[in-house]
Amino acid sequence: MEIVSTFAEARERAAGHVGLVPTMGYLHEGHLSLATEARKRSDLVVMSLFVNPLQFGEASDLARYPRDLCRDAALAEAAGVDVLFAPALDEMYPTEPVVRVDVGSLADVMEGPHRPGHFAGVAIAVTKLFAGVRPDSAFFGRKDAQQLAIVRRLAADLSLPLDVVGCSTIRDAEGVALSSRNIFLDEEEHRAATAVGRGLMAAADAVEDRERSGGALEALVASAIASEPMLRLEYVALASAHDCSRLSRLDEEAFLATAVHVGATRLIDNVHIDLRDGAFVADRGVRLDGPTILEAN
Ligand code: AMP
Repeated sequence: MEIVSTFAEARERAAGHVGLVPTMGYLHEGHLSLATEARKRSDLVVMSLFVNPLQFGEASDLARYPRDLCRDAALAEAAGVDVLFAPALDEMYPTEPVVRVDVGSLADVMEGPHRPGHFAGVAIAVTKLFAGVRPDSAFFGRKDAQQLAIVRRLAADLSLPLDVVGCSTIRDAEGVALSSRNIFLDEEEHRAATAVGRGLMAAADAVEDRERSGGALEALVASAIASEPMLRLEYVALASAHDCSRLSRLDEEAFLATAVHVGATRLIDNVHIDLRDGAFVADRGVRLDGPTILEAN
């Protein structure tokens, strides 16, 4: 595996079908599952590693975001990444961008109001990565369901010549969706966070038992979260996978998403609900059976 820091170097390596896995680093099995999927579908796998300041609201969140290039390089190589593209701030933003990517109403709901400017920051970084690396496919996690919907729409609306591939959420053995921010949870907070996964799994079961009411599905998640006093619910919403609009009835591909606060940490999670041959099937994610690489640190 090569580590490069400029778009030109990343592009020089291009050969055959190029798969791009954008990340902010501090890798865990969620990121690595994207690399594994990219490896299966691509001749060359490029993983980008860039903590994008434009998508952070609070400076303190940006400052405390974990970073460790040596650790990430070893994990990326083991997962089959060919090129680790770790640009410095100047390479991504040589000048303050004047032209921005407006994702419209997609950013007005769920995560949007709680994180002003977040999706605009994601959109510009992702657009630059697509333009600079020129991948044939790009791999994103369903863990960040609204982000995935926005990136799909961005690629479609701007006619960007690449496939956006969504990959299942990886969960730890207790059902908590992996996130680089999980390292901030103490044992009690982590135990409390398991209620989120339980609520989402109950809703997934209900979908497969033919529950179609958005309110009823949201209530299942909200009540599991309310049963855990350490959690503070921010929102729970059944949303269209196509345009992120709130659905009062499940009648198209969707995701049931929630955000909670536990201590000083904010967590998001969801179940994606696919429509396959006229039937709704919940993607509960993949549960690991042992300790995660985040716990091993
Ligand atoms: P991040 O480094 O948090 O920006 O995440 C980089 C990519 O990894 C995004 O496409 C995320 O959706 C994806 N990702 C993060 N956590 C998980 C997870 N637990 N399972 C699957 N994909 C994930």
